[in-house]
Amino acid sequence: MSRLSGKVAVITGAASGIGAGAARRFAAEGATVVVADVDETAGKQVAADIGGTFVRCDVSVEGDIEALVAAAVEGHGALDVFYGNAGITGVQGPITEFDVAAFDRTVAVNLRSIALGMKHACRAMQAQGTGGSIISTTSVSALQGGLGPHIYSACKAGIVGLTRSVALEQAPHGIRVNAIAPGGVVTNLLARGEGLEGEAAAQLTAAIAEKLAHGQPIRRAGVPDDIAAAAAYLASDDASFVTAQVIVVDGGMIGAYSAGSLPDPNA
Ligand code: NAD
Repeated sequence: MSRLSGKVAVITGAASGIGAGAARRFAAEGATVVVADVDETAGKQVAADIGGTFVRCDVSVEGDIEALVAAAVEGHGALDVFYGNAGITGVQGPITEFDVAAFDRTVAVNLRSIALGMKHACRAMQAQGTGGSIISTTSVSALQGGLGPHIYSACKAGIVGLTRSVALEQAPHGIRVNAIAPGGVVTNLLARGEGLEGEAAAQLTAAIAEKLAHGQPIRRAGVPDDIAAAAAYLASDDASFVTAQVIVVDGGMIGAYSAGSLPDPNA
C-alpha cells in the first residue's frame, strides 16, 4: 500500500493507543511520520519501529506545537497531514464538584491543543501552497450523553464545532479539516486517567475490553487500527472532496442509541 507515499504526517499522542496505531498504519501506507507525544520512551520506540522521527511535544503548550510543525517542515520539507489525537480523560465526577484548575488542564490538553494544531498546521500548509489534511480525534461522547466525563465530552463536542468551522475557512486553501469520533477502543486511556500502571492498568483495560466486546451492534471491541484506517483515508487523496466531516467509527453504537436498540453488554 502506498496511498500516503510522499506525504509528511504529524500525529500527536502517537506513543500509545490510537495514535500509535495511526503512526504504524500511515507508515505502512508510505507516509513519513513524525511521532509526537509527552511519553518519550514509548514515542521513540514507535518512531524507531516505523522509521519515523520522534518529537517531544506537550500539546497544551503552544511553543511545543509550533516547534513540532517546524520540525516536520524543516526536517522533512513539508507538512501534508496534521493529526491532532492526543487526549486525556481529565477532570471527572459530578458537575457540582469540579475543580477549576483541573477543568482548565482538561480543556488545554483536549481542546485548546486542537485549535493550536490547526493554527500552526494551517500556517505551514498555506505557506507551502499545496493544501493538506487536518484530522482530529473527537469521540462518541461528543454526540451522545453518558459516554464520557462532562468536561471531556464538552471538549470533544468543541472539536466537532471547530472542525466544521475551520473547514469552511480553509477550503479555499485546499486544506481539508475533518474529525473522527471513535466508539470504545481498547487502549490505555481509562487506566491512565485513573492513574493506574502495570498489572492494575492491564486488569482494568481487560475488563473494559470484555465489556466493549458486547456493547454495540458489531460485537467486538474497537481496536486502534479501526480508527487508523479511517484516518489514513482522510489523510489520503481518496478523500480529496471530503471536508467538514465527523466520521463515526463505533461499531454502530451511536446508531443503536438513535434507534433505542443498544445491546445489553451482559448478554
Ligand atoms: P492512550 O492513553 O492510549 O493514548 C493517548 C496518548 O496521548 C498517550 O501516548 C499520551 O502520552 C498522550 N498524551 C497525553 N497528554 C498529552 C499531552 N499533553 N501532550 C502530548 N501527548 C499527550 O489513549 P487513546 O485511547 O489512544 O486516546 C487517543 C485519543 O482518542 C484521545 O483524544 C481520546 O480522547 C480519543 N478517544 C479514545 C477512545 C477510546 O475508547 N480509547 C474513544 C474515543 C476517543
